[in-house]
Amino acid sequence: MEEIMVLKFGGSSVADNEKLQLAAKRITKIYDKGKKVVVVLSAQGNTTDRLIKEANELSGNVSSRELDALLSCGEQMSTAKLSILLNYLGYPAISLTGWQAGIFTNNNNQNANIIKIDTSRIVKELNDKKIVIITGFQGIDENLDITTLGRGGSDTTAVAIAAALHAKNCYIFSDVDGVYTADPKKIENTKKIPKLSYEEMQELSSEGAKVLHNRCVEIGEKFKIPIITKSTFNEEKGTMISDTIEENKVKSIVKKEISRISIIGNGIIRNFDLIELIIGFIKKNNLELLNFEIFESKISILFKNIIEDNKIQELHKLIF
Ligand code: ASP
Ligand code: MG
Repeated sequence: MEEIMVLKFGGSSVADNEKLQLAAKRITKIYDKGKKVVVVLSAQGNTTDRLIKEANELSGNVSSRELDALLSCGEQMSTAKLSILLNYLGYPAISLTGWQAGIFTNNNNQNANIIKIDTSRIVKELNDKKIVIITGFQGIDENLDITTLGRGGSDTTAVAIAAALHAKNCYIFSDVDGVYTADPKKIENTKKIPKLSYEEMQELSSEGAKVLHNRCVEIGEKFKIPIITKSTFNEEKGTMISDTIEENKVKSIVKKEISRISIIGNGIIRNFDLIELIIGFIKKNNLELLNFEIFESKISILFKNIIEDNKIQELHKLIF
């Protein structure tokens, strides 16, 4: 059987028709070599941010089911457009949504986990010589409701699909050509790292490096799929994340922004209803904590990630 190649393109690599042409060129070059090609796409440019903003403008309390129904549209647009373009260029291509591609998740909207992938449709289309273009970031739960995998989750879709199809590796194309010794957009004289272990990459992702979605590295490690990050726009060698272990070699420095939220008022320590309300809010939103402290007139919570203003809006509405 021909080798299966899984290629994922990030949002800036499919941002407009011109960028789609560049992605199409990379894809057809590989297809022309006789490989089976599966493509996973993000939404175009800042589509997802825009959709979240628009939803929040409509409601101060957006239902997480409906938000996923909305956000999943971004990836459906980019995949359909790429398929239209490839067909125009004379290539047999087909776009598949998460559910068409058999991606089943739990029902944790906005941060769902992939439970299983039924690859039969993908395999059928590959056997029909199609270039299969799959929406990243989305799946379907046991009630046939659409879910999304968390911001940046298309990487996870790509690696999970590479694992399910037993691909040799998974290529992640984006506007950065690899992982660097520090953020090259902010720090001078950084160097690209040719190889990283899964563990090192997981540490980098969870500590704030924005190159890859954290869970995709976990899946890569579990199923032994090497992940190769490359630029869509040049031919430079990227970074390979695999089982390689080099002891005592320092790899990278990362900075992460986190959030501290404090709620203030005299005697707050005895306001059990409020404390329960806040805990309910944290649970409902699946927010990860680093620390939770209650004082006489202050509750201070340190979150693992940045808490966006729309979440503060939601909390404010709950409390006041
Ligand atoms: N479109 C989603 C996001 O912007 C998923 C992704 O790009 O990987 O977070
Ligand atoms: Mg992305």
